[in-house]
Amino acid sequence: MRIIFLGPPGSGKGTQAHLISNKYNIPNISTGMMLRQSFPKDPYQSHKIRKNIINVMHTGNLVNDDFMVQLINTRINKNDCYNGFLLDGFPRTILQAEFMKKYKIFVNYVIEFVISDSTVINRITGRRIHINSGRTYHIQFNPPKICGLDDITGESLTTRKDDCEQTIRKRLHNYHQYTEPVLNYYRHESKSKKIQYFSIDANRKITEIYKELISLLINK
Ligand code: ADP
Ligand code: ADP
Repeated sequence: MRIIFLGPPGSGKGTQAHLISNKYNIPNISTGMMLRQSFPKDPYQSHKIRKNIINVMHTGNLVNDDFMVQLINTRINKNDCYNGFLLDGFPRTILQAEFMKKYKIFVNYVIEFVISDSTVINRITGRRIHINSGRTYHIQFNPPKICGLDDITGESLTTRKDDCEQTIRKRLHNYHQYTEPVLNYYRHESKSKKIQYFSIDANRKITEIYKELISLLINK
C-alpha cells in the first residue's frame, strides 16, 4: 500500500499518518519530521546545509526541490519501503510530483485533507511535538496524559518554532500557491484508475477521520 497525504499545515496529516502507518505496518515518511531531526551521518545534512534548511523552515518557506527530491529518493529506496509507505508532506510542488513519476515511484492512494485556514491556525497554535518520535499532541484537542510530556517516553514536548501565527500564514500562502496545483495534478492522474484520489473532511474528530481512512483504504 503506497499512500500520499496532502493537506494544509495543521490539517491533521501527521496525526493520522502515525495511526495509519501503525495499522498497516508501513513506514511513515514525514519530510517535515526528517528535516527537523538531526541525521549526523547523512551526507546531505552537513552543518551549513542544515543551518540553511532550518532558516527556511523557520520562515515558513519551502526547502528547495533538489534537496527534497534527493532526501526522499534515498529514503524510499530503503528496504522497509518494499511493501509500501505513507508519504506525509511530499510531494509539495509540481516538480516534486513529477520527480515521483519520472523515477517510477508509483502510489495507490492520494488523500486530500480538506479544512479551512481559520481552523488550522487554531490547531497549530496549540500543537506540541515530541521531536525524536514525531508524535504530535494538542493542548486542548489531543492532550498528553501528563501535561508537557510525551506519553511513551516521558520526555518533554516542544512547540515548533514555525508554529507561530505569522509563519503559519506564510505556510498557508505557500500551500495555496505551490501545493494546491499538486492536488489538481493527482486528480488528473487518478483518471488513469491506477491512483485513487479521495478528499476527506478534516474538520472532524481524530477518531472519525481515522475510521473513514480505514474504510477508504480497505474497501477500494
Ligand atoms: P506542516 O504539515 O505542519 O506544514 P511539515 O512538518 O510537513 O509541516 O513541514 C515543515 C516544514 O518543512 C515546511 O514548512 C517546509 O519548510 C519543510 N518541508 C517539509 N516537506 C517539504 C517538501 N516536500 N518540500 C519543501 N519543503 C518541505
Ligand atoms: P499536520 O501534520 O497536517 O501539520 P498535525 O497532525 O500535526 O497536522 O495536527 C495539527 C494539530 O492539530 C496537532 O496539535 C494535533 O494534535 C491537532 N489535531 C490533529 N487532528 C485533529 C482533529 N481531527 N481535531 C482537532 N485537533 C487535531
